[in-house]
Amino acid sequence: MGYMLDDLVAKFRPYTDHGRVAGYIPELLKANPQDLGIAIYDRHGHIHTSGAVQSKFTLQSVSKPFALALALMDHGPEGVFSRIGMEPTGDSFNSLMKLETFSSLKPVNPLVNAGAIATTALIKGSCAEEKFSRLINFIRSLAPSCYVGFNADVYRSESLTGDRNRAIAYFLRDIRAIDGEAEECLDLYFRQCSIEVDCVTLAALGLSLSVLPPEFCVIPPLYARIIRTFMFTCGMYDASGEFAIKVGIPAKSGVSGAIMGVVPNKLGLGVYGPALDIKGNSVAGVALLQALCSREDWAIL
Ligand code: GLN
Repeated sequence: MGYMLDDLVAKFRPYTDHGRVAGYIPELLKANPQDLGIAIYDRHGHIHTSGAVQSKFTLQSVSKPFALALALMDHGPEGVFSRIGMEPTGDSFNSLMKLETFSSLKPVNPLVNAGAIATTALIKGSCAEEKFSRLINFIRSLAPSCYVGFNADVYRSESLTGDRNRAIAYFLRDIRAIDGEAEECLDLYFRQCSIEVDCVTLAALGLSLSVLPPEFCVIPPLYARIIRTFMFTCGMYDASGEFAIKVGIPAKSGVSGAIMGVVPNKLGLGVYGPALDIKGNSVAGVALLQALCSREDWAIL
């Protein structure tokens, strides 16, 4: 497996030239656009890595499935889906468009920014600090002995510049899709996006969403299935349909260049390549995953 991954990383690293590091969160521009790394964490605990696996990066939108897991554990599916929809949007991740046009006045799904901010607002806790520590400790419990930190510079950078997310949060408050103060919900959302990991952590987190024997399940199996389904239909934003056809596994990307993949019953995948395509997905990361999943016949359908 190791040699094969080295070959794939060497083959797809040149693809990083076709993408750009996200600049709308200024701190993310410090990433090396040529980085490309992959980790595989299988259900027997074997880890395979290649490329930029020492690089640390923030979860960004890859945090959304875990905020959803916690919200589901806090409120159950009915509590969550009475406030947030289940449909793909076909729009960019930070679009406001469907907030006004979607039939029921709620954000369309938990993996686009509007739905994610509303999901984060459901996390229980007596104060902002407690809500965040519940979330980061939950993520740590899913990837024990892996690196899980917090990047305060990225947090500050997004907090200072995140006016579009601010617009979304105030709109959500206006339609009563969130109960708390908009600024407090946003602050927790910016913090969750700034949780820092590496490729091995990402792969371990992917494995936590796989179909696992009951004794290994931290996330209840039904909730893991709900999350995998959202990842399959909405995890790669408005490229989710193409990704489902070409790669064929549940996955979630983030603007840091992270992609977390799940091969049910088998393993988790963590890919990092900060040069992004126009839709905000890692250019080289998607190409690498496509080649790997086709070679190993991992597509789920
Ligand atoms: N923090 C980012 C934002 O809200 C996350 C988006 C992403 O990773 N696609 O804009």
